[in-house]
Amino acid sequence: MTERLENRLEDAIRARIAETGPIGVEDYMAICLGDQRSGYYATRDPFGGSGDFTTAPEISGLFGEMCGLYLAHMFEIAGQPGDASILELGPGRGTLMRDMRHVWAMLMPDLADASVHFVETSPTLRDVQLQTVGDEVDLTWHKDVDEALRSGKGPIFGVANEFFDALPVAQKVMEGGKWHERQVGIREDRLGYVIGPALSETDPALPETPPDGAVAELCPQACAIAMKLGDALVRRGGAILIVDYGRDGNPGDSLQAVNDHRAVDPFEAPGDADLSHWVDFAALASAVRSAGARLVGPVPQGRFLMQIGLGARAEQAGLNAEPEVRRDLLSAVDRLTSPAQMGEVFKVALLLPPGEGEPPGFMQEEV
Ligand code: SAH
Repeated sequence: MTERLENRLEDAIRARIAETGPIGVEDYMAICLGDQRSGYYATRDPFGGSGDFTTAPEISGLFGEMCGLYLAHMFEIAGQPGDASILELGPGRGTLMRDMRHVWAMLMPDLADASVHFVETSPTLRDVQLQTVGDEVDLTWHKDVDEALRSGKGPIFGVANEFFDALPVAQKVMEGGKWHERQVGIREDRLGYVIGPALSETDPALPETPPDGAVAELCPQACAIAMKLGDALVRRGGAILIVDYGRDGNPGDSLQAVNDHRAVDPFEAPGDADLSHWVDFAALASAVRSAGARLVGPVPQGRFLMQIGLGARAEQAGLNAEPEVRRDLLSAVDRLTSPAQMGEVFKVALLLPPGEGEPPGFMQEEV
C-alpha cells in the first residue's frame, strides 16, 4: 500500500482515468516508459546484472563485433561511399556502438570516421552513452527518427537492437464478433485491462476470424518508423540491421513487464518495470515495402550469427586466452545463439534499398 501511494506515475494515471475515462494500452505504455520525470527509461540505467534485463551487447563484445563486421561488409559492397553516416536507434548504454567502432577502427577506418547519430529520448542514458563511446566521436543525439534522418545526405549504415520492442503498442480485443479497443482502467481499485469502444473500421492488419476474447497488437509507431527508414534507404542507400524478439506476424497479447530479471504484472508499479512487446516483423516488412524499400528476414538470431561467423570468431578470440576467458566466450556464444536462450526468439532483419538476392546471414539453411 505504501508503495502504491509513493508511485507518482500511478497517481497521475489514476487521476487521468478518473477525469477522462480509461486510456489506451498504447498511452499507458508510453507514459510508463517515456514520462520525462518518472518514466522507466528517463530515470535509470536498466541494463545488466544489477539492472532489470540484459541485452545482447551487454552479454559479450562478440555481438557488437559481429554487427560491426556485418555493416562493414555492407559498406564495402556499397563501394565505401565517402558521405556515409551511422545511425543507431535506442543505443542503451552505448556498448554496441563502442564494439562496432572497435572493429571499424581496425578494418574499415572510413566507417570509424563517419558521423554517428543516436536516437535516444532518455537524458540519463545519453550521459552513459557519451561515457561509453568517448568524446572523440562525431556524435549527435536526436529526439526522434525524423530529426536523425534530416541530418546528412549520404548512405545510412544503422542498427537497432531491442528498440522496436520498447515502442508503445496498442491492443485490440475481440468481443461479440467485433474488434474493440483494449484499454487500461480501474478494476476493483486496481489498474487493469478493460474493454473499450468497438472499432469503427476493421484494420486489415488484424486477424480475420479470431475467437471471442482474442487479443491482437498493432504498433503504429513502429510501422511509421519502419516506413521512414525505408524511404531514407531508397533516397540515400545503405543498410539497417534490426534485432528484436518477435515473430513474423501478429504476436497476440505479448505486452510484458520485467523487473529485476523477473516477469511482473504490467500494472503493479508503473514506471518501475520495463514494458516491452514482441515485434511484428511482418507489419514492419509491409511498412518498409510501402516506402519502396525491402526488409530481408527475419531469421533467428542464432542462425544469423553463426552464418556470419560468430563461432569462428569466438574460437579465434579464445585461441591464446586463459581458460576462464575461453569459458566466458563459449558461454556468450551459447547465450546468444542457443534456441533455449536468445537464439530463437530473437530475430534479425535487414532493411535495404530495393534490389534482389539474399545477403549473408539470411540464406536458407539446407534441411
Ligand atoms: N540497444 C540497447 C538498448 C535497448 S533498450 C541494447 O541493446 O542494450 C531500448 C533503448 O531505446 C533505450 O536506450 C531507450 O532509452 C530507448 N528508447 C525507448 N523508447 C524510445 C523512443 N520512443 N525514442 C527513442 N529512444 C527510445
